[in-house]
Amino acid sequence: MIRYCDLKKINSAYIDEINEAIARTVSSGWYIHGDEGNRFENNFARYCGCRYCIGTGNGLDALAIIMLAYREMGIMESGDEVIVPANTFIASILAIIQAGMKPILCEPDAISYNISPEKIESIITERTRAIMPVHLYGQTAEMAPILEIARRHSLKVIEDAAQAHGATYNGKRTGNLGDAAGFSFYPGKNLGAMGDGGAITTNDTQLAETARAIANYGSHKKYINIYKGVNSRLDEIQAALLNIKLQYLDKDNEKRRNIARRYLKEITNPLIILPHINCMERHVFHIFPILCKERDTLQQHLEANGIETLVHYPIPPHKQEAMKEFAGAEYPVTERIHREELSLPCNPAMSDEETTAVIDAVNGFPGREQKD
Ligand SMILES: *Cc1c(COP(=O)(O)O)cnc(C)c1O
Repeated sequence: MIRYCDLKKINSAYIDEINEAIARTVSSGWYIHGDEGNRFENNFARYCGCRYCIGTGNGLDALAIIMLAYREMGIMESGDEVIVPANTFIASILAIIQAGMKPILCEPDAISYNISPEKIESIITERTRAIMPVHLYGQTAEMAPILEIARRHSLKVIEDAAQAHGATYNGKRTGNLGDAAGFSFYPGKNLGAMGDGGAITTNDTQLAETARAIANYGSHKKYINIYKGVNSRLDEIQAALLNIKLQYLDKDNEKRRNIARRYLKEITNPLIILPHINCMERHVFHIFPILCKERDTLQQHLEANGIETLVHYPIPPHKQEAMKEFAGAEYPVTERIHREELSLPCNPAMSDEETTAVIDAVNGFPGREQKD
């Protein structure tokens, strides 16, 4: 069986270094807000090319804390609107709601699957305060027009970079493409921990200081609370192993790109729509999404050929039971993606033979004719 994402295999590439880092942290006796965390924040800020990085407990918190900090800074108020792609993972939308803001869904572009800059402007209102582009599947959103719209309307741009560690846009890395960014180190992400973790990156000194306090009970100094904060920390053990894995991130992303290059070239089945990539450096292939009108049958066909695939995502956020406020809304581009999307295995632990097996099985999918 070719697993979609075999975390044991992915992490085994660095297991000796990771075990050493964890053992060192355990014996240090210091588990929260220490040297490893500081080192990771410095390393990750440098990697992204920005001034500040603040570790958080997970990616959802990273995004929510950015907006809570903007509220403390007087830049946003409860009930203000944040524009977010309708086809994102639900965490982007939940972060906006948890920060007391109102998510306004925007259709994606049908080719890139990222938020459509053309559609943003028509949904801006007096209450709009920010745009949250999501670098979905690992590909950077169309940042130049997004930043231009934001500048014209005095909006903040908050990147959801949870799927796109190391992806670039015009030579700059994610985390340094807007006013602030939220990252996730959930184990399956391109830079994955062995538990939960997240980070905020920004070049804005006041935002960095405010966010750091909010993530720590609203406090810079123990028992002195200046904001109504939350508790969201990247612990020392996760930071220690992320310090190891960050060194290999570019190499791992290149392995993903090499698999993607083969898929793009060698998958020739006319029933499949391959993702359109205009620049390989913009994509880190957290997910390799294909579209197929007979998605469910294709998934069964691949399963029968020993290939595990996933769907990102089966139900769009506006159709979720939890999101009744969007009931009745229609987002046809989003709905089509959710109906037809299938994610092929694409990760650094895959061998050439496995990649070939996936390509052969996809090309061998006969479609409906088989059933007649
Ligand atoms: C994973 C993910 C998140 C949330 O990260 P967690 O660490 O699981 O909280 C947010 N947005 C997107 C697009 C994600 O894929």
